Amino acid sequence: MSKVRTRIAPSPTGFPHVGTAYIALFNLAFAKAHGGDFILRIEDTDQTRSTAQSEQMILDALRWVGLDWSEGPDVGGPHAPYRQSERKNIYKQYAEELLDKGHAFRCFATAEELDQMRAEQMARGETPKYDGRYAKLSREQSDKLAAEGKPFVIRMRVPDEGVCKFDDMLRGEVEIPWSQVDMQVLLKTDGLPTYHLANVVDDHLMQITHVIRGEEWINSAPKHQLLYKYFGWEMPVLCHMPLLRNPDKSKLSKRKNPTSITYYRDAGVLPEALLNYLGRMGYSMPNEAEKFTLDDMIASFDIKRVSLGGPIFDVEKLTWLN
Ligand code: GLU
Repeated sequence: MSKVRTRIAPSPTGFPHVGTAYIALFNLAFAKAHGGDFILRIEDTDQTRSTAQSEQMILDALRWVGLDWSEGPDVGGPHAPYRQSERKNIYKQYAEELLDKGHAFRCFATAEELDQMRAEQMARGETPKYDGRYAKLSREQSDKLAAEGKPFVIRMRVPDEGVCKFDDMLRGEVEIPWSQVDMQVLLKTDGLPTYHLANVVDDHLMQITHVIRGEEWINSAPKHQLLYKYFGWEMPVLCHMPLLRNPDKSKLSKRKNPTSITYYRDAGVLPEALLNYLGRMGYSMPNEAEKFTLDDMIASFDIKRVSLGGPIFDVEKLTWLN
C-alpha cells in the first residue's frame, strides 16, 4: 500500500474554529499511526471571503495547539501550507480536460436567468436545482458562444438516474440518489475553480490516501466520486467525522460555546488540555483513559473507535482541565 497521506483543507474565511483543530487532530493521529504524513492546504479560491489575516490565525492556532503539518511548497518559508490561490492555472487546465472529454459543459446562463429558473421551480413546489439547460449545446455551438465573448461557467455532467454508492470508513456503504446531485459549477466565470474541482485535483496531485473531514461534506462525495472517475484517478478512502455539538445537541455555535481556538489560548487553556478534550470527542482510548497526550493517542490510534453519536463540546468542561 502507498504511504498514508492525510490533510486538512480549511478555508481562511474567519476565526480558527475548534472544529478545524478537531479534524486536524484525527487526520494527524491517523497519518502518524500509519507512519504517514499530514499536510495543510489552504482552500482560498473564494477570493471574496478569504483573507490573509484569517489564514495567519489558522496557522498560528494549529501551531499553538501542537498540530503541525509535515511539508509545504517552497514559497513562504519552511512549513508554509499549500495554497490553492497559488495553483489557479492547474485547476483551469483540468476543467478544460473535462470539457474536452465531454464530462463537463459550458453554461452560459446569466444570474437573472438562473434566478428565474429557481423561482419557477419553487412556484411548482420543487427544490431548486440547475435544470441542465445548456448541457445539450453541441461543442460547436458552445465554442462559438465562447469565442463571441459570452461569459460562461463550466459545469460537470451528472447521471440522470440511479444511485451513487461509496464507502465511508465509519459509516460503511453510503447511498445518495443521483437525482439529488447538482450539475456542479467547477470553474467560475472569472476562471477560478469551485471547492469541488480544486479539492479533488489537489487531493489527487498531493497523493492524499485518506480524506477525513466533517460530516457536512457527505453530500459532496458523489460529485467527487464522479470527478475521480472522469479523470480516471483512484479515489482516496473517505471518512466523515461526526460534527461537534452544543450541550443541547445543536450544531456547535459561538452563541453557546466559544468556537475560536484563539479564545481558548487567550483564556489560558493549555494546548495539551484542548487537544486532550478534542481527542475525547466521540473517541475513546482502548484503556478508557480520560487524560492522554497526542503521543498516547497516536500510539494506540484506531479510527474505528470513533463513534458517530454527535460529540458534545462544552466550554464549561474544558475550563476545569487546566
Ligand atoms: N475547504 C473545505 C473546508 O472548509 C474542505 C473540506 C474537505 O476537507 O474536503 O472545510
